[in-house]
Amino acid sequence: MTRRQINQVVVIGAGTMGAGIAAHFANAGYRAVLLDIVPTELTEKEVGMGLTLESSAVRNRIVNEGWARCMKSRPASLFAPSVAARVSLGNLEDDFDLIAEADWVIEAIIERLDIKQDLMARIDEVRKPDAIIATNTSGIPIHQIAEGRSESFQQHFLGTHFFNPPRYLKLVELIPHEKNSLELVEFVQDFCTRRLGKGVVICKDTPNFIANRIVSVSSYFGMIYAFENGYTIPEVDEITGPAIGRPKTGTFRLNDLIGADVRLLIAKSLYENIPHDPHRDVLQHPKTEAVFTEMVERGLLGNKSGAGFYNMKVIDGAKQFWVLNLETFEHEPAGAVSFESISSGWKIKSVAERIAHLSYAQDRAGEYIWNLLSKTVLYAASLVPEISDDIVSIDNACKWGYVWKLGPFETWDALGVARSIERIKDAGGQVPVWVETMLEAGCDSFYQKDEGVIIGYYDPQTEGYLPISSDPDLISIKALKKEGKELKGNPSASLIDMDDGVLLLEFHAPANALNPEIRSMISESLDELEKDAWEAMVIGSQGKHFSAGADLNEIASMTENGQFDLLDEDVSDLQQLFDRIRYHQKPIVAAAYGMVLGGGCELMMSASKVVADAEVRIGLVEASVGLLPAGTGVTEMVKRVINPVMQVTGADELSHARMIFDQISRGKIAVSAIQAREVGFLRKDDQVVMNPDYLLGEAKRAALNLADGYEPRSPEVVWGCGRDILAALKIGAWGLTEGEWASEHDLLISNHTAFVLTGGDLSVSGWVPEQHLLDLERREFVKLAKTDKTQERIAHMLKYRKALRN
Ligand code: NAD
Repeated sequence: MTRRQINQVVVIGAGTMGAGIAAHFANAGYRAVLLDIVPTELTEKEVGMGLTLESSAVRNRIVNEGWARCMKSRPASLFAPSVAARVSLGNLEDDFDLIAEADWVIEAIIERLDIKQDLMARIDEVRKPDAIIATNTSGIPIHQIAEGRSESFQQHFLGTHFFNPPRYLKLVELIPHEKNSLELVEFVQDFCTRRLGKGVVICKDTPNFIANRIVSVSSYFGMIYAFENGYTIPEVDEITGPAIGRPKTGTFRLNDLIGADVRLLIAKSLYENIPHDPHRDVLQHPKTEAVFTEMVERGLLGNKSGAGFYNMKVIDGAKQFWVLNLETFEHEPAGAVSFESISSGWKIKSVAERIAHLSYAQDRAGEYIWNLLSKTVLYAASLVPEISDDIVSIDNACKWGYVWKLGPFETWDALGVARSIERIKDAGGQVPVWVETMLEAGCDSFYQKDEGVIIGYYDPQTEGYLPISSDPDLISIKALKKEGKELKGNPSASLIDMDDGVLLLEFHAPANALNPEIRSMISESLDELEKDAWEAMVIGSQGKHFSAGADLNEIASMTENGQFDLLDEDVSDLQQLFDRIRYHQKPIVAAAYGMVLGGGCELMMSASKVVADAEVRIGLVEASVGLLPAGTGVTEMVKRVINPVMQVTGADELSHARMIFDQISRGKIAVSAIQAREVGFLRKDDQVVMNPDYLLGEAKRAALNLADGYEPRSPEVVWGCGRDILAALKIGAWGLTEGEWASEHDLLISNHTAFVLTGGDLSVSGWVPEQHLLDLERREFVKLAKTDKTQERIAHMLKYRKALRN
């Protein structure tokens, strides 16, 4: 059997979801065609321009506008503007034939069964026999959309329910059709996971599938309790946000994002589709119905109409969020919100432990949280096996679709199953039989743990724990440590055996700032790597960030004490450490993710190869603390960007020098791996991984590939652009200051950066040894560190975690 290939994707419907899905396929490197309907009427502007319904600009108007909205959307749907070239636009009449070439057709049109069915009938006539046909419906049963279609169509038809925005939300609910082959389902699951970077949950074809079903009903539990017990809107949002491991939007800000009109529609359609569900009445509760209906009548739809539960006002130049008074439906200033249990709860770092603390707290926040969470976990349990046979899928769907830190069953474990059941029963509540059976079988939690690592989950069918299925490509540092693979360690870093002769250098310090412990572990790891037992090393971790940069505390302490010789020595040590990585006899791969800033970026760039998460943030941001990259960063950028250009006679070095200069002197951050590649932080042969879960596995694979016949690198010459380019860069920086875009101190930093970047005051441009630039980096860095304004910037960053533009 030949392996399926996806070369051409067609997405139908250029609205919020269709355009976002097309953009995400383009992010992943695929060509996509986006189609929408042809308008039936001309706009006034089109009439004025003399266009007719036959003009192509008119016929493509809807798709053009949808795509333009998507390109302007924030946060950005595309990894970089250049990616847009992979998407072409058309309409469902003139370009319908393009569907015949598609390997995958995704329908994301208006949520109407009859319209979707008509479209599927047209697709059935032209589709390639083996093409995948998918719908993005949020609620219409999959089998109904495929009704009446050919047998072969039904075999290739399924639901792939992306969440909004498709680039950012991890969940794709995959709803197979009963006629699909296992091969097709596995292919789509694997493609969405590995190629698109999503978390796939396989769902049954039940109303609203998993995440929307549970989260919609749960949100009504919360709103009804609030309305009946006099909680204010800001109180509910404070309670239902990060305190319980949910996004800052809480309950009502999320409603403003969804829209009061859409909220009513979703509730109505879900209510009608679940007549058997004893909890469905909450979806039509008189109080919530009255509030949302009134809001729709008054045009208070939420963010899209400018006001909903909140209304942003600017008062005396400052933003204020006024809140809807549910008696008068007028917005008023929000009062301060404070709960004793939440204030004390912030000290508890673990979300599970904090949830336990809050749910049993005796204040109003505690009462609310207990009510919301106990009802939610009971509801989720009541839907097993109706919507899913396994609890892991339910947890993952809620976590990946709604950015919850804990799914319902993880939440129930946090509450303590036995303890919470006692309280539920005391209040007259009922617990699903399978949960009682679980406790009777001696399983006192939904997840089975061994030394803090989850190893199994409770399965109601077999009435025992099943092992968590493990993909060999997924590497867990926690699990490696549990297996005793840690070779060395200190409070900030560890050296771990990843098997197959590959070492893993892991950082676990706050923001992985390059403190003395991390630096000493790098050095020890490089020594260890020299031993015959090892083929290669990966630098990577599984916290929030690869590394947010140098240890500013160290720098501040040296500058405050006037120890500038020591600072010079320290920078020299760092350069030598990074050069040891760069010129090591064995390959070292950096697994970059999260923030890769300043010294973290320099460390990453010293590796033989980078395997980067597509959503990585990379920048040489030293200017924000009044400094310049002196840990080989400027030199490396010149080597990467200017050296190759200068191999060509008569090449233009100025535009390339400007690009690096702009990037460094303004401390710009590339906000995706694609952007990082465009500006030189990543090289063409560095690898981009769409799914960060596979980052360490891919980095290990890359390290082993490199190890086979690895040719160590050695120091190179670097192009010194010389005085003329230096002058040109300085004039540009001066212009920014004159135009008041930059401060005098920004200008000073820029001038020092330009000086290093161009090779110092070279009267003639030409090749110089790289040590020449490294010495300049260090010297100019120390000069900047001596200035008061740089010291103020460092102190400000340490105190407020924000850049000071003095
Ligand atoms: P939308 O209203 O933004 O876009 C719908 C698109 O359908 C529009 O571009 C419209 O021109 C097109 N359309 C209208 N009538 C049509 C017709 N007769 N034939 C073909 N196309 C037609 O909607 P959306 O939010 O992008 O939703 C699209 C689908 O995705 C729906 O099935 C929806 O349930 C589902 N969905 C939406 C979200 C969300 O958050 N918006 C999330 C997941 C799934």
